[in-house]
Amino acid sequence: MADSVFAASGTVGTRLRTLALDLDTYAAQAEEFVGAMDREYYLHFAGHKAEFEIEEIYARHAGLFGRDVVDELRKRLAGAAPGDERRRARYLLELAVGGLLGNETKAEETELAEREAALEIEVGEKLMPYRQSAVEQANEPDAERRAEIERARLDALERELNPLHRQALERSHELARELGWPSYREMYSELKQIDLAALERQTSAFLRGTEGRYRGAVEPHLRAQVGVGFDELRRSDLPYFFRAQGFDDLFPSERIVEALEHTLGGLGIDLHAQENVRLDLEQRPRKSPRAFCAPVSVPGEVYLVIARHGGRDDYAALFHEAGHTEHYAHVEASLPFEFRHLGDNSVTEGFAFLFEHLTEDPVWLRTMLGAGDSNRRADYSGFVRASKFVFLRRYASKLSYELELHGGTRPLSEMPGLYAGLLSDAVGVEWPVATYLADVDAGYYAANYLRAWAFETHLRSVLVERFGPEWFRSAEAGALLRRLWREGQRLDADELLAEVTGAQLDFGVMENEV
Ligand SMILES: [Zn+2]
Repeated sequence: MADSVFAASGTVGTRLRTLALDLDTYAAQAEEFVGAMDREYYLHFAGHKAEFEIEEIYARHAGLFGRDVVDELRKRLAGAAPGDERRRARYLLELAVGGLLGNETKAEETELAEREAALEIEVGEKLMPYRQSAVEQANEPDAERRAEIERARLDALERELNPLHRQALERSHELARELGWPSYREMYSELKQIDLAALERQTSAFLRGTEGRYRGAVEPHLRAQVGVGFDELRRSDLPYFFRAQGFDDLFPSERIVEALEHTLGGLGIDLHAQENVRLDLEQRPRKSPRAFCAPVSVPGEVYLVIARHGGRDDYAALFHEAGHTEHYAHVEASLPFEFRHLGDNSVTEGFAFLFEHLTEDPVWLRTMLGAGDSNRRADYSGFVRASKFVFLRRYASKLSYELELHGGTRPLSEMPGLYAGLLSDAVGVEWPVATYLADVDAGYYAANYLRAWAFETHLRSVLVERFGPEWFRSAEAGALLRRLWREGQRLDADELLAEVTGAQLDFGVMENEV
């Protein structure tokens, strides 16, 4: 039961009651909570059940996320010995704080989800579900219509959703202060032990260092996919650019599962012999159209939910999720829960990017799919590089923005202008203000992605150096990956990388990637 994480010593009911938190008990109950959430997520998004009943799960485990628990875990962290003891305390504290924030803003979040699901926009004479409209926009060949969809989307966002986004954000900021941190930013710097300011110095250097060649590198691909250059480009064209339907034929739907099996086979992993990996292949009416991974129990029960549509997006999504899946499925079972399931998500995202990147690699495309001729594969690689360039600059500027947004020194009223200005400069297109809140992931997840990109790039260069450009067909490369996967996320991306290569994680490595 949730409340039993605290064993009361002293007389219950007196004001002098002191509390002793048993970390092992807490971790065991936290694992139950996380498992229940992931199971619910799996059942709902794989289309097994219509409801998504997470409120109940929160209610059942509310004792995990009390302020007293957060205070106590902070004390434990402060007194913990460096190394694993400190890591365990910190990972549990991050979970407790995230859970507390989630629990205290769940009214806003639920309302947001429900309103968003019910929202319709009017485009021309036609009503369109708000959520569906993003997909329609990405697939719409007519630029005027794309702009029209975007205008309607932004209007609806501003009018119907932003007030709730604002409420949820202000509440989170308030909670960070109530918990005793000077700001949300300070709170997450401490919880994640990521020097966000140092990371921002690296990402800003990346923005400056690539400024001169950005447009020239991306422009030909923009023209090829969208038919315009930066001068005429609108923000509403970008989803269509990223979608790049023209390359879909390189990725046949009937081969998507086989391509994954063969890739893993090349690394010495027999996907179908992995009893802890549950492949969800069946089509269901309510199943998510995108692949996902649900690590219900690590490493014992990990779901890889597959959407068999084909096309470049589906391959990229499936391989990304397969990277998460294999990482979780190979974690050493005897590690404590904190190391199997919590920790620095830059690590699991890095392995996910590593697999995703294969689907962009001309060598992989040739050997695994044999698709197209070498010119088309090279075109495709060039396109992916260009779209990644846009993404990296977008995320680099998003980090600068989020540091201000959560820094607690500037008023919220300045944020829309700041957001649009930073994004416009970095991406090279006039960026709308309306998404200044919806475009923010909780808990500085943008920092995890930025670190994961750098981690993946370092790691991939080691794999290529040691095992050649066809490293994905090397059982030895597979053995190296399995060795890293065993650790779960006990070590953060910096430590893990130092272990493999002795190199220091630095976002500067991305300058050569683009
Ligand atoms: Zn991911």
